[in-house]
Amino acid sequence: MKKQDVSRRIKNFEEVALGLDETEAVLEAKRCLECQRPWCVRGCPVGVDIPRFIRAIRDGRFEDGIRIIWEKNSLPAVCGRVCPHEVQCEGVCSLARGCSKFMTAKGRARVEAFLEQFNLTQKRRRPVSIGALERFLADYAAEHGITPYTAGSDMKGKGKVALVGSGPASLAAAGELARRGYHATIFEALHAPGGVLRYGIPNFRLPEEIIDREIRQLKDMGVEFRQDVLIGRTLTIDELLSDFDAVFIGSGAGAPVLMGIEGENLNGVYSANEFLTRVNLMEAYRFPETDTPINIGKRVVTIGGGNVAMDSARVALRLGAEESIILYRRRREEMPARREEIENAEEEGVEFKFLTTPTKYIGDDEGCVRAVECIRMEPGEVDDSGRQRPVPVAGSEFTIEADTVIVAIGQRPNPLIPTTTQGLETGKIRNIIADESGRTSIKGVFAGGDATTGAATVILAMGAGVRAARAIAEYIEGCKD
Ligand SMILES: Cc1cc2nc3c(=O)[nH]c(=O)nc-3n(C[C@H](O)[C@H](O)[C@H](O)COP(=O)(O)OP(=O)(O)OC[C@H]3O[C@@H](n4cnc5c(N)ncnc54)[C@H](O)[C@@H]3O)c2cc1C
Ligand code: SF4
Repeated sequence: MKKQDVSRRIKNFEEVALGLDETEAVLEAKRCLECQRPWCVRGCPVGVDIPRFIRAIRDGRFEDGIRIIWEKNSLPAVCGRVCPHEVQCEGVCSLARGCSKFMTAKGRARVEAFLEQFNLTQKRRRPVSIGALERFLADYAAEHGITPYTAGSDMKGKGKVALVGSGPASLAAAGELARRGYHATIFEALHAPGGVLRYGIPNFRLPEEIIDREIRQLKDMGVEFRQDVLIGRTLTIDELLSDFDAVFIGSGAGAPVLMGIEGENLNGVYSANEFLTRVNLMEAYRFPETDTPINIGKRVVTIGGGNVAMDSARVALRLGAEESIILYRRRREEMPARREEIENAEEEGVEFKFLTTPTKYIGDDEGCVRAVECIRMEPGEVDDSGRQRPVPVAGSEFTIEADTVIVAIGQRPNPLIPTTTQGLETGKIRNIIADESGRTSIKGVFAGGDATTGAATVILAMGAGVRAARAIAEYIEGCKD
């Protein structure tokens, strides 16, 4: 997929990936092998009928294609952009290497014969770009005014459901509930809906207009949004239960994890959540046009190896940092961030120091961070995650100067709702305990997404939201019997 030129993009917040045009989309769709047992569908957490929508693109039936996706996925423009496709649908595509371990010998022989017959062997390592095709259809629909529903047409008043948080878990749950004839009201603590999609993921990966567009479609279906309402303070879960037939908690994992090392409270040391929220939601990058200033200085050091770290380091470059450095305690191949985003960060000039971790932050007389003391790590014993646990190399400490430090080593669910809701069972990281269908320890209260799993992915949160919505519908129906 074409990208915005690197020398230009590091100076703006516009989208980096430029999408496919109609001809490119049709050509890409033609690469699909039309497998009899499509592994890609199993690789998609919400089971989008991938071969059917790809066939529609191949035949130029773009409206049919987007309608096929909408059957299972209410946020295709988002998922097409940020899903970790390479480990999901595309990771098991028969054209990709990853799939071979799942295939029978007969299946493999069939694929080999097909590839040979059409002289595709050279291209076989690259899976069909399912995410890019999904994005193409979602953008095509927006450009051509094709929408999933007509305003309020599905509202049949079967019951009222309150949803806490407006991230992908609640958005997907609300869409499914509205489709089934329930009135869904989303309560959001912040002043704008979208959850991490809005306050975390930067515009250059997921433009604000895309989130607005997909939220507008939910509003057209009758979903109500109430912003600036903090559940656990403004209203409690018990109060919601007395006004609604059921409650879904999709409050995410917005509490940052810090390392607890010396100097973490210095000025200029941010959690990634705070940093990205200031920039994305409060639009600090447009200061003084907006009211939120951010002054990052010349050298920014980000700690972590996930998508959050990549986003933070790339935002720092766009805010004018001369050097943006990532410290990661393991090796490059062990970074959990999406490959595409690691490559984008490298292209843009982010510098990586692998097998390195901070041990303390050093400040000046005014309490502002000035340097990071680090230590080198080496791979040790294999741990529970199946990776070699990094261990410090004695005597390898060194210091790097820093004007800003961004700690992006993880997020956990916020404890506010569990601590203000009697009887709501929680797990080790204060995650809400919920079964496969989202049922919690309280009757009528369901939960899903990062609030139950800890930090995960958009599509997993959406899948949990959809499953919970189905269980909520069953629960409300059951209450009427
Ligand atoms: C910077 C960043 C980059 C990421 N990149 C990717 C990526 O590329 N691909 C991917 O798949 N995933 C990515 N993720 C992870 C993904 O965004 C999350 O897994 C997903 O958003 C979780 O969805 P959710 O609905 O459970 O929660 P969230 O998106 O966190 O939404 C929860 C919402 O609930 C609100 N809320 C919380 N408490 C309350 C309360 N008490 N009352 C009212 N509202 C409340 C919050 O304000 C928030 O709006 C990224 C995450 C971050 C932080
Ligand atoms: S929703 Fe995500 S995993 Fe499913 S087909 Fe789309 S891009 Fe692939």
